[in-house]
Amino acid sequence: MSERIYLSPPDMTQAERNSLLAAFDSGWVAPVGPHLTEFEQALCRITGAEHAVALASGTAALHLAMLEAGVEPDDRVYCSTLTFVASVNVIRYCGAVPVLIDSETRSWQMDPELLAEALTRDAAAGCLPKAVQVVDVYGQCADYAAIERLCDEYDVTLIVDASEALGATHGKRGAGSIGKMAALSFNGNKLVTTSGGGALLTNDAGIAERARHLATQAREPVLEFLHDAVGYNYRMSNLLAGLGLGQLSRLDDIMVRRRAIYERYAAELGELQGVCFMPEAPWGRCNRWLTCLTLDDARCTAGGLIESLSADNIEARPVWRPMHRQPIYADCEVLNRGVADRLYETGVCLPSGGCMTEEQQSRVIDVARKCLKD
Ligand SMILES: *Cc1c(COP(=O)(O)O)cnc(C)c1O
Repeated sequence: MSERIYLSPPDMTQAERNSLLAAFDSGWVAPVGPHLTEFEQALCRITGAEHAVALASGTAALHLAMLEAGVEPDDRVYCSTLTFVASVNVIRYCGAVPVLIDSETRSWQMDPELLAEALTRDAAAGCLPKAVQVVDVYGQCADYAAIERLCDEYDVTLIVDASEALGATHGKRGAGSIGKMAALSFNGNKLVTTSGGGALLTNDAGIAERARHLATQAREPVLEFLHDAVGYNYRMSNLLAGLGLGQLSRLDDIMVRRRAIYERYAAELGELQGVCFMPEAPWGRCNRWLTCLTLDDARCTAGGLIESLSADNIEARPVWRPMHRQPIYADCEVLNRGVADRLYETGVCLPSGGCMTEEQQSRVIDVARKCLKD
């Protein structure tokens, strides 16, 4: 059996090893410490956000964003339906009601026309949502010119799940700096990983301060244990921030590599019948976290391609199953034109890890070409 090729494994070098050990050797193992602060500052520099709070996961960041947006039981919160389940779970953590919104074809991101339709309808009915959560799915920013205008017009808080989008841009702005609050994830499968982690980003100093407080059990800065709210144990440890600093120092290289992997797939598979890659929208740069394509009237189905790759010990995955097709969220209201459904039915994510060698990528391409040519 050939050596296994993974979808998006961590991309670690001596730089990460050194910065992890630097944090260890400094004695600041946990909980907080100077590397955590430095990691947060680096996130601000990269994204353009003014404040960053490093956390234990992207899910924790999204949960705190919901709380800071004031989401309470029975509130409505809009969310992109094409996403990983964590985006919608945090709405339920708050007892609120998700309203799912379909993607548009040109970017795969939330469709602003459907968002406008939902806001107009709910404004008339007097049931506007407490927040709109837009997901920058597969490392591409949504159409924020349109989405921000709508959120401003209806005075609804915009939260961005930029978990997959570190390094992507919208115009001159970095993913994670858009919206009232944004979440990043440093889970093991993401572009940049701390093995597990996340961050909440915002330009609002008050929100950052309260999020930091809630993330540390809402513990007051006094000697005796004093708590003024129901808090959480959500903070990132200083050690993992050390690892993250090593990854962030290589972000440009990591992204150049992911984009090169995408370019090669596009060059070698893009001409085959029925193959379409996720389009890059004109408003920004996609980080190409994963190379995703759809097979529409191609020589094989998405499932067929995934199976053939798997038979050669290559990990490929379908595009996210839309949330309205999840057993737990199937009864949610959804504004749907069938775009995310179609992406799910025809989509494949190809191995995109930065440490994939040329030879390994050739193996993926050979299997894919064989499927797609006969
Ligand atoms: C990875 C991911 C998350 C969750 O991040 P964790 O760090 O694993 O909690 C949330 N939303 C999206 C879209 C993701 O891809």
